[in-house]
Amino acid sequence: MSPWRTGSYNWVPVTKARNDKPIIVAGGGIGGLSAALALARKGFRSVVLEQAPQFGEIGAGIQLAPNAWHALDALGVGALVKKEAVFIERMLMMDGVTGEKVIDIPLDERFAKRFGNPYAVTHRADIHGSLLDGCKSLPELIELRTSTRVAGFEQLESSVSVATADGGRVQGAALVAADGGRSVVRERIVGDPLPLITGHMCYRAVLDVKDVPDELRWAAATLWAGHNTHIVHYPLRGWKLFNLVATVIGKHTSGGHNELATPEEALPFFSHYCGQVMKLMRTPKEFRRWMLVHREPVDNWTQGRVTLLGDAAHFMLQYMAQGAAMAMEDAVCLGAAVHEADGDFERGFLSYQQKRLVRASRVQISANSLVGMIFHVPDGLEREVRNDIYRGRTPERYYDALEWVFSAPDYVRSF
Ligand SMILES: Cc1cc2nc3c(=O)[nH]c(=O)nc-3n(C[C@H](O)[C@H](O)[C@H](O)COP(=O)(O)OP(=O)(O)OC[C@H]3O[C@@H](n4cnc5c(N)ncnc54)[C@H](O)[C@@H]3O)c2cc1C
Repeated sequence: MSPWRTGSYNWVPVTKARNDKPIIVAGGGIGGLSAALALARKGFRSVVLEQAPQFGEIGAGIQLAPNAWHALDALGVGALVKKEAVFIERMLMMDGVTGEKVIDIPLDERFAKRFGNPYAVTHRADIHGSLLDGCKSLPELIELRTSTRVAGFEQLESSVSVATADGGRVQGAALVAADGGRSVVRERIVGDPLPLITGHMCYRAVLDVKDVPDELRWAAATLWAGHNTHIVHYPLRGWKLFNLVATVIGKHTSGGHNELATPEEALPFFSHYCGQVMKLMRTPKEFRRWMLVHREPVDNWTQGRVTLLGDAAHFMLQYMAQGAAMAMEDAVCLGAAVHEADGDFERGFLSYQQKRLVRASRVQISANSLVGMIFHVPDGLEREVRNDIYRGRTPERYYDALEWVFSAPDYVRSF
């Protein structure tokens, strides 16, 4: 039994709301629900508007580094999410061509002690479900509405009027846009066009662990690196499931996500990989294909009583496994900033933006550079040089290098 599996909600007693008009939260993904919870924990009332007919997450895995767990703890659901998580023992990077172990980062007691929380992997539905249950347990402070798509907004003197796609209007004290990477609110605040094609694409599958080759059932978040491609896998849900994500950069010409793809389509991209990992790649009967889109960092997330959060603010490639972690940290920071500004939303939002900009942008930029510099280097001499750089490194050197991202910011620790 893991020492982290302790269990239940950690709620503050509900108090009377500090705001009359609700804060409108656009989007009920991990970012939006976290924002509603963080605001509620500081006594602020909100209404979450979600476009889908029900709240939910796609059926795939997610990695949660110590900083993500600190944010979940601040939101009061850390112990609950830990109940379903798998506490993996190491992070590995393997040379996809030769099968050599290149990077091995132990995630043992030493690691958890240093960062104050473990590294674990979980099912997206489990983390989203815990946040949703948390929101539902505070009905005085959080209203949840489905089938409500935000279409635009208007800032009035001391409030915000949000237009919905069905022609309705919702009045609020402020607007937090957690409506994802294709945010309609961002269009108005930042106005940067979403790149249609980035060339980054991934094939995802969640397998029954019984179907996974024995020799790859590792208690690790494993990344196999090969030219222009990489493959990530880890166990899920008490070792019942196994998450597989295979990424390729190429000249892809369509931009959909979560589309059905056959092994015949996916496998040729990875034909330069060694037999061990190709055996795993041949296991799924089908994949889900995702064209990966991301944006460049910008420094204007806020306009008056409206601010962006999560992917709406910093849509990034998943290569640092930190997008959801950043969304949850944003939420905690937002709650603290609005609390400190005592409900002066314009001041609170600017303070939130100022505290979050550099950290979130650094993760966004790092995610891009990891691919070119480490994961996807060409076969041959460059690959051998990459392996030589990492060979024999001590765990402490890795921990030092990861300190900036895995350590929780002060506003999360003191929430
Ligand atoms: C392959 C892959 C692997 C990843 N792995 C990890 C990982 O291991 N660790 C990690 O931390 N992150 C990971 N991420 C990133 C992470 O999934 C995202 O950063 C995170 O889910 C963003 O949450 P969000 O709430 O900001 O946005 P979203 O999850 O996109 O949620 C937005 C919500 O808003 C709703 N919505 C959209 N538009 C509107 C509208 N106009 N009105 C009302 N509602 C609207 C949507 O229906 C949705 O519910 C990964 C991403 C990918 C693609």
